[in-house]
Amino acid sequence: MSNFNYEKKLEHEKAAEKALMEDDFPSAFYHVAEAAKFALALANQCTGKLREAYMSNANELMESVRMADVAGMENVKRQIRLRMIDPLQHAEEARKHGLKVGGGILLYGPPGTGKTFIAKAVAGELDLPFYTITAADIFGKYVGESENNIRDLFAEARKNPLSVVFIDELETIFRKRTGDIHETTQKVISVILQELDGVKDGKNPFLLLGATNAPWMIDEAFMRTGRFDVKAYVGLPDLPAREQIIRNAFKHVEYPVDEDAIMYLASATGKCSGADINGIVQSIRQTAFERHADRYTIELFRSCTQHIAPSCNEETLRKIEEWERQNEITRE
Ligand code: ADP
Repeated sequence: MSNFNYEKKLEHEKAAEKALMEDDFPSAFYHVAEAAKFALALANQCTGKLREAYMSNANELMESVRMADVAGMENVKRQIRLRMIDPLQHAEEARKHGLKVGGGILLYGPPGTGKTFIAKAVAGELDLPFYTITAADIFGKYVGESENNIRDLFAEARKNPLSVVFIDELETIFRKRTGDIHETTQKVISVILQELDGVKDGKNPFLLLGATNAPWMIDEAFMRTGRFDVKAYVGLPDLPAREQIIRNAFKHVEYPVDEDAIMYLASATGKCSGADINGIVQSIRQTAFERHADRYTIELFRSCTQHIAPSCNEETLRKIEEWERQNEITRE
């Protein structure tokens, strides 16, 4: 086996790491994609376990998700297509209708239902860089550091003609304040708000997506700023969506998976989120490995799913509905 692909993969991985340390995101993005390309080439040169390992390495590195990978949530996909994807892919036609690209879309719903996943899919579908801001980027850092990090992130994002900015855990970042809010936190929040000015009228080079599991905890003043003009509910997957998530989770398994086993699992996982289903499939795969199984049968699935515990509780669903009622939000 030639060492060329291996050397190249290592070289790009190191370059990506270095770029990340220097917060040079576009360069990191490029090197990660190159590393993935060489991992794939390596996989094609190998067989058996080694091939499998390089394949999954390439997949992890690429992590390019497309809209077609997102199971279910047709209403959300439609909104995103209409506002963010189609006007870019058919720019001339959109212009003739006087349509602008963008605006902000708030994705709300129980945890693990694919909010982050769909935001990544927008970037993947349009081949755009993806920038993410989480509560950890803002809290629990040295004084002043988070403010600079956020500024740098936006400065990097602005170097691209267009990119996707995803803000996760909005309920933590823009939480309703009961007491005094720390000065530094306030500063970071103002930086984000300033940077996002212009999202509404399409003046920013960002497609903005935000996510929350607990919309009722978000500061109303923040919601009123109009940065998220569309609010889309991302709910628990229905039966066909669960089936797609299961099939997807077995994509790289080289042993046959029985149809009745897939259908059994899809119906047994009502009330489970996509993340829950991935967890169950992972434990099925581990059991199969442990038992040296060479076929995924319904008996194997049954033995691994004696106690399914969905992570989302009724209370969360009820609170979301109450928030919708109070804010006169109707699901499409
Ligand atoms: P959230 O951001 O809503 O908490 P994530 O996007 O992190 O959830 O979902 C966790 C994982 O579950 C995803 O990476 C994906 O593999 C899987 N998943 C969840 N929902 C879906 C879905 N509707 N379609 C495909 N995969 C999904």
